Amino acid sequence: MNTEGNKAQMRAKGKASEPLVMIVEDEEAIALMLTYNLKAEGFRVVHASRGDEAELMLAEQVPDLLILDWMLPAVSGLEVCRRLRAREETSDLPVIMLTARGEENERVRGLFIGADDYVVKPFSVPELLARVRALLRRARPEKVIGLLELGDLKLDRNARRVHRGEREIHLGPTEFRLLEHMMSRPGRVFSRDQLLDGVWGLSSEIDERTVDVHVGRLRKAIVRGREKDPIRTVRGAGYAFDEHFGKR
Ligand code: CA
Repeated sequence: MNTEGNKAQMRAKGKASEPLVMIVEDEEAIALMLTYNLKAEGFRVVHASRGDEAELMLAEQVPDLLILDWMLPAVSGLEVCRRLRAREETSDLPVIMLTARGEENERVRGLFIGADDYVVKPFSVPELLARVRALLRRARPEKVIGLLELGDLKLDRNARRVHRGEREIHLGPTEFRLLEHMMSRPGRVFSRDQLLDGVWGLSSEIDERTVDVHVGRLRKAIVRGREKDPIRTVRGAGYAFDEHFGKR
């Protein structure tokens, strides 16, 4: 039995509950895409499509981070932001504002009103996720799980380092993101398409076979000799990080 592995597993599970992100966005397609990708990264997500709806939800439950669209029905994102800054419970809530291109002056106003960061539409999902993580690290460090640890495999998001036991594994940036993506949701099967979206970004026009190539490289780097392979190939479906890795 691999008791070290079991301990590591328990440590990983014993971390603070998953951060809650609220998305306020009236464009259904963007809201769905963000919800999907944030959940895939291990966040909990709630969504409002109007400014006034967001204010009602914020009065009930304060999330760990708010993604707030500028142009909203009823109450604008700016106004929502201004009001929540004036309320004690939400005065330091981390806010990322979404703006359309060409609102440069408006953007400056947004930062003045108290958004912590802004992203211009159309944006790349990996970039927005990186902003979310960076802002959470700054504002809610206890909420960001910096260390993913399963079996004898350790991935340190902050130092961007991977170890298998005592051995340091040097990965290229794509292999690192691929491992991070799968390790953050052990057991979940990702299709090649989902991996392309999550790791390379929606706008990429890369062939699905590229995913196989990079998974191959990742495997070669993390599995030596008779070591166990933590990545499962699920025929006809895609790839998953084995949730039982290190448990048996
Ligand atoms: Ca809008």
